[in-house]
Amino acid sequence: MPRPRVYKTAAIVLRQRKLGEADKILTLYTPNYGKLDAVAKGVRRPTSKLAGHVEPLTYSSFLLAQGRELDIVTQAQTIEAFTPLREQLERTGHALYAAELVDRSTPERQEAYPVFRLLLETLRRLAQRDDLETCVRFFEMQLLDELGYRPQLDRCVGCDVPLKPETNYWHAGGGGVLSPTCAAGEPLAQPLSLNALKVLRLLQRGPFPEAGRVRLPPSLAAEVEQHLRDYIRYLLERDVRSAAFVETLRRQRFNRLGTGTG
Ligand SMILES: [Zn+2]
Repeated sequence: MPRPRVYKTAAIVLRQRKLGEADKILTLYTPNYGKLDAVAKGVRRPTSKLAGHVEPLTYSSFLLAQGRELDIVTQAQTIEAFTPLREQLERTGHALYAAELVDRSTPERQEAYPVFRLLLETLRRLAQRDDLETCVRFFEMQLLDELGYRPQLDRCVGCDVPLKPETNYWHAGGGGVLSPTCAAGEPLAQPLSLNALKVLRLLQRGPFPEAGRVRLPPSLAAEVEQHLRDYIRYLLERDVRSAAFVETLRRQRFNRLGTGTG
């Protein structure tokens, strides 16, 4: 969608970075313009009226003016502050992960309303619900769908026969699941339990309330997380900078959990 010289848009603030003495560059995710950067001038001064409305993970209404390189924020007003995402560390970590994943996996200025809606719904869930891991797994699976990387979970990605109810194999490079026969020739394929396959299908099929009703034992939750993360890492690693980002996330998770299995 072409932008007028001055335009109004809602947006979720994905992140901020400092610019010059008192300014910040915001990365915004909008319903109609996709992802874009905009300058918030003077926002680091204590007197700034903008500051409270442009924090990462805030959903705000913006008035933007086209600049020579980056657009300029002329007004911002919070629509939803998601206060719990700022006050509870566990919620903060999951929400920042979701925002960073959208930031790293989407191109600039390409409209993708379903991605916007998914992120907004995910932030609402992460602010309100207690099953944060389920919220994030559902977000990951649905985002993969929207980005065109829907994993194939019903038929073997090697030979296309329907998968049997047995231990199959997760193959990130192949975009889905391999049958035991096909996995024999694929050293990078990882065993995928039948229960984990069922959970992955449930996350893919949705809607969220269905997926949100299931309570997973920790080992199964860890298996599902591992497979989804492997696939996302595989996709992002095609970009070297993104790979560094995923490593950072893995380290953060490692530190948080105090285990080596993240
Ligand atoms: Zn096969």
